[in-house]
Amino acid sequence: MLLEGVYRMMASVPCPECGAPTSEGELCDECYADGLDVAALSDEIEVRVCSKCGSYVRDGGWTSHGEPLPDDELAVAAVKDELGVHVEAREPRVEVSVESRDPNVLRLGVETVAYVRGYRVEDERRVRVVLRRETCPTCAKRSGGYYESVVQIRAEGRDPTEEETERALEHAYEVAGRDYGDRDTFVTKTEEVRGGLDIYMSTSNAGMQIARRMTEEYGGGYDDTATLVGEKDGEELYRVTYAVSLPEFVPGDVVSTDGTALLVTDNDGILKGVDLRTGRRRSVSDADAEKELIGRVDDAEEATLVTVSDDEVQILDPSTYETVTVQRPSFLVARQGEEVEVLSTNEGVFPVPNKNS
Ligand SMILES: [Zn+2]
Ligand SMILES: [Zn+2]
Repeated sequence: MLLEGVYRMMASVPCPECGAPTSEGELCDECYADGLDVAALSDEIEVRVCSKCGSYVRDGGWTSHGEPLPDDELAVAAVKDELGVHVEAREPRVEVSVESRDPNVLRLGVETVAYVRGYRVEDERRVRVVLRRETCPTCAKRSGGYYESVVQIRAEGRDPTEEETERALEHAYEVAGRDYGDRDTFVTKTEEVRGGLDIYMSTSNAGMQIARRMTEEYGGGYDDTATLVGEKDGEELYRVTYAVSLPEFVPGDVVSTDGTALLVTDNDGILKGVDLRTGRRRSVSDADAEKELIGRVDDAEEATLVTVSDDEVQILDPSTYETVTVQRPSFLVARQGEEVEVLSTNEGVFPVPNKNS
């Protein structure tokens, strides 16, 4: 009796499954690995997907509004999201493949291979993915024309240029698309109106950013006016109008001011450019003398240089075919008989710098 007791303590106890010797009488590692479910996954997964933008619900929230995924990829992504791998499974490898599909139901095979206590374990199963098509809240807002701000792109004493309105649109779509996680920021609509462009944005912050970017880039300024329009989630909802006023003069304008004909190259509140009489660079602040637009450099025409001296040139004025004598600006280096670009204005004819210089 004594001997038998000693024997039991020292020797192994067979695995209840396969009889292999174990020390504790529990399952051996191989049988343990065999019996372990390395992958956990329900037989059917339902995915809520927006039929307008392709966004789908993941971890309780709607995903980004990038390119919509094809149904197959969506189903595979949903399975991978849903699949749980046992904590003891080492180096798990998962392969998911679509086996068949109806419009809203896809059947997929899921193969998981992992190592448990050194033994290779395979798990194969099939799962149905049901796509439930609906309209996501963002698309509902978009199609409902929801907006919280309007940016009015205008310019002082003129219409905004095409470049300016295009830039404003670029800013709007950039602000809307900057952060894919922020699905609530979008361009509701854009509208060409008399005197400029109106951009409707889903949030007031987005509108402010566009107004700020435009005035940082082009000068001018903006005013904002908020109007109470109702409530949203228990808070007062304001709609904000950002009235952007771009400066009167833009690059390429020729402005008569303070005794100069200034070809504007920059205007960020201070008018900067080239004096077409002398060729010198000048800046004129807002507060300075009166300014009048006398032409656009784009309207310059070719004219023949009749004579050239150090400080004067004679030009055949293309609008009157008369020879006129003008001061030679420092940028004019052409010789007699050559063609130069000149702009005829009500203040006279001015050579303008070569477009490439
Ligand atoms: Zn065993
Ligand atoms: Zn959507």
